[in-house]
Amino acid sequence: MEKLTIVIPAYNEEEVLHSSLERLLKIEDSIINSQNIDESSNIIVVDDGSKDKTWEIVEQENQSNSRVTGIKFSKNFGHQNALIAGMTEAIKTADLVVTIDADLQDDPDSIPTMFQEYTQGADIVYGVRNNRETDTWFKRNSAGLFYKTLNVLGVRLVQNHADFRMMTKRAISTLLEYHERNMFIRGVIPMLGYKTAKVYYKRTPRMAGESKYPLKKMLAFAWDGVTSLTIAPVRAILMLGLLVSMLGVCALIYSVVTKWMGLTVHGWSSLMISIWILGGLQMISLGVIGEYIGKVTTEVKHRPRFTIESKLK
Ligand code: UDP
Ligand code: MG
Repeated sequence: MEKLTIVIPAYNEEEVLHSSLERLLKIEDSIINSQNIDESSNIIVVDDGSKDKTWEIVEQENQSNSRVTGIKFSKNFGHQNALIAGMTEAIKTADLVVTIDADLQDDPDSIPTMFQEYTQGADIVYGVRNNRETDTWFKRNSAGLFYKTLNVLGVRLVQNHADFRMMTKRAISTLLEYHERNMFIRGVIPMLGYKTAKVYYKRTPRMAGESKYPLKKMLAFAWDGVTSLTIAPVRAILMLGLLVSMLGVCALIYSVVTKWMGLTVHGWSSLMISIWILGGLQMISLGVIGEYIGKVTTEVKHRPRFTIESKLK
């Protein structure tokens, strides 16, 4: 019989955690009864350095039900690292792992359907939301643009899938062989291979509390996604550089010819324009290259992705 572990990353989720755990335990119980998964199937909450009562809640829940356990980070290491820590711990005993956000915006009632897909042979089951009405206009459109851009840059991402998915132990072991410090998990998973499936669900608004992804953090996450998955921006700079140089040659010919023909050039405006445009392009280019060098620097340091302060049994 398979053992299922649900992994929940949680950062300042005191307002929702208790009811989320209750709901997830019920769903797990129903799969234990109806679909024959192991009774020891459990839940691991990864407290990503919360400053509120999140960890106290995990401890209380663990006291009353040993199927709820937790990992506490020594500080905030981010959502993706919390997922990695949770999955690493889970596959020590579990055959199947579901990752889901603490606010249950992603419909936990899809978990039994995910399990069915697994029984049909899928190693990776993606939760895919079939609506975005609950997001703001801005989030909907910026997310759409993000997926499109990455697609153009040659990165395969599952549309409208975030971090709600079921994976088998062997798929997770393969994922953990990717050692990048800045892992953008949903961009790496399509590289793993294995049989995949999709389960569609409707995303609901957050029950309580506010998003732990304010605009600044969301943009940083998107930019990390681009730069950790593709070197296309650096190539684009090269193409841009070639294009600008070609224009430069044309400008050169033009100015030489006009000079020969005795038409004195008013020079000033064209000079100013090229200085500004070229200056701008150079700065952008250096910035993008710098970003990649920064990534290389972090990777070569081989720092730990996270530090676990304590763990519940
Ligand atoms: N989260 C985390 N660390 C962070 C930010 C978020 O572990 O630094 C968790 C958060 O507790 C939640 C999940 O990641 O379980 C997704 O966050 P949220 O629901 O706030 O994002 P949104 O749904 O608004 O994109
Ligand atoms: Mg959310």
